[in-house]
Amino acid sequence: MNALLFGPPGVGKGTQGKRLAAALGLRHLAMGDMLREAVRRGTPTGKLAKRYMDAGELVPDEVVAGVIREAIAASEEGFLLDGFPRNRTQAEMLDAMLAEMGRRLDCVVFMDAPEDVLVDRLSGRLVCAACGASFHRQYSPPAKPGVCDVCGGKLIVREDDREEVVRARLRVYREQTAPLLAYYERHPGFVRVNAQGTPDEVFNTLQEALTRCAEV
Ligand code: AMP
Repeated sequence: MNALLFGPPGVGKGTQGKRLAAALGLRHLAMGDMLREAVRRGTPTGKLAKRYMDAGELVPDEVVAGVIREAIAASEEGFLLDGFPRNRTQAEMLDAMLAEMGRRLDCVVFMDAPEDVLVDRLSGRLVCAACGASFHRQYSPPAKPGVCDVCGGKLIVREDDREEVVRARLRVYREQTAPLLAYYERHPGFVRVNAQGTPDEVFNTLQEALTRCAEV
C-alpha cells in the first residue's frame, strides 16, 4: 500500500506516521526528517534547505521533489508519505512521478485539529537529538526529564518550534498546504481524521482508516 498523510504542523503526522508505518510494514517517508538529516550531515541539499527551515518557509519544490523521488524509488514495500506534498506544484510533481514509476497512491489521509491545539502542541514539543522521537512537556513527557525514552539521547526544542517560527509555519500551511484539501478530496482513497484525541485514540482511528482503505 502507498499512502499519504497530510495536515497542519503539530497535528501529529510525525508521531503517528512512525507508528503507522511500523504497524503496516510501510516505509515512513517524512520529508522534514529527511531534510533535518541532510542538514545534520551538511550535504549540499542540507545547506540549501537550512535557511528556509529556520524561517519556517518551504524549501524549493525541485529540491524536495528530488529527495522524495529517490526515497520512493527505494521503497518497494510501500510507503507512507508525511510532509510531502505541501503545495499544489508538489502534488502535481508527485502524481507525475508515480505515473512514471507505474505506481499510485491508495490512501490519502487528512489529519485535522483547531489552530489553538496545534500551537499548544508545538510549543511544548521536545525531540530527541539522536533518534528524532517526539515528546511533549505536558501531554507525553519522557520518563526522565530531558532524556529520550527510546534511545537515551538528549531532548531538545526544535529550532523551528520557537513561537515566531511556529506562526510562520502555520501561515505557510494556511496559504500553501491547506488548498491541497480541495485537490485530494476527490481522491477515491480520501479519509479525513479528527486528530484531537489522545495519541492512542488517534492511532487507532488512523490504523482503521488505512486498513479499510487498503481493502477497497
Ligand atoms: P516538518 O518536520 O514536516 O514540520 O518540516 C520541517 C520543515 O522542513 C518545514 O517547515 C519546511 O521548511 C521543510 N519542509 C518539510 N517538508 C517540505 C516540503 N514538502 N516542501 C518544502 N519544505 C518542506
